[in-house]
Amino acid sequence: MRDACGRTVSYLRLSVTDRCNCRCAYCMPEHGVPMLSHDDILSFEELREMVGAAASLGVRKLRITGGEPLARRGIVGLVRMLSGVEGIEELAMTTNACALAALAPALREAGLDRLNVSLDSLDEGRYARITRCGRLEDVLGGLASARAAGFTNTKVNAVLIGGVNECDIRPLAELARAGGDGPLGVSSVRFIELMPMGECAAWPRERFVSVDKVLEVMGELVPVGPDGVAALYAAPGWKGTVGLIRPMSHKFCSGCARLRITADGMLKPCLHSGEEIALRGLHGDELLDALRLGISHKPLEHHMSAILGRASESARAMNEIGG
Ligand code: SAM
Ligand code: SF4
Repeated sequence: MRDACGRTVSYLRLSVTDRCNCRCAYCMPEHGVPMLSHDDILSFEELREMVGAAASLGVRKLRITGGEPLARRGIVGLVRMLSGVEGIEELAMTTNACALAALAPALREAGLDRLNVSLDSLDEGRYARITRCGRLEDVLGGLASARAAGFTNTKVNAVLIGGVNECDIRPLAELARAGGDGPLGVSSVRFIELMPMGECAAWPRERFVSVDKVLEVMGELVPVGPDGVAALYAAPGWKGTVGLIRPMSHKFCSGCARLRITADGMLKPCLHSGEEIALRGLHGDELLDALRLGISHKPLEHHMSAILGRASESARAMNEIGG
């Protein structure tokens, strides 16, 4: 289905929990936030109904996110349920991978097609400081386990934080050298600009740097074209790619094909807008109408700017929306 700006909306990001086993400094307060109660979180049946309705309107790609999706009890069963929804052609998950090692084979068998793994540093100490409770060895073990379970084309997403992890650019990018069929199955390492929202909305300007920094550090990269929201680059002899995602320095809103549903059942037409449409309790035509309304309300673009000090207009933190 097309929105009012002519964009075809085919991609749904579904947050299945607001809970997380990490406390990344830019995403969550150190001691956590008040969590939704079990009754506030969408049940598996509700999730399936909403995905089915979205698929009937043209959604073809579904991404399960959170909070940390692997922290949702019964996640393997949920993946199995959602992978069977008619019309969904690709089922992906964004995860911090801290609990992936043990779950990867079952997730694969349940029908998960692809993984995006968030990893901001390959230095053990820095990784622990950024995530506050993550262990780098768990993430690397998760990547290896996913590869052994048959996942290929895994993408690593790294948020670039000025003054914190620029020195990780090259080591992280190197994960893509062997490509999707390599030992960790990483086909692309994508660097993402930090967005001023939630915990980091009021961080100093120097934390918000352009991912062009990656091109300064890795002079051998040459552009190979766009892939969705990422501009892709390759280095001579590498099988995988390096991606740059620039929500701040170059908006990509004009190509945005996404809808988001929060763990408590609110449809967000845009990550950064305050507008939400309650889906809970709606069925059949009412649910379809609410989804159509959300699609028609996708704004032309977001209004964030680190330079002008304008933060996201969304009242929610990233752990509630899922990125
Ligand atoms: N817990 C999972 C994970 O970390 O992959 C899924 C949810 S997390 C909110 C999704 C993605 O959002 C992660 O890659 C994270 O680094 C990113 N993220 C969180 N806050 C962000 C911010 N302020 N700016 C840019 N990316 C952010
Ligand atoms: Fe958790 Fe992901 Fe937020 Fe880190 S970015 S605190 S892993 S939800």
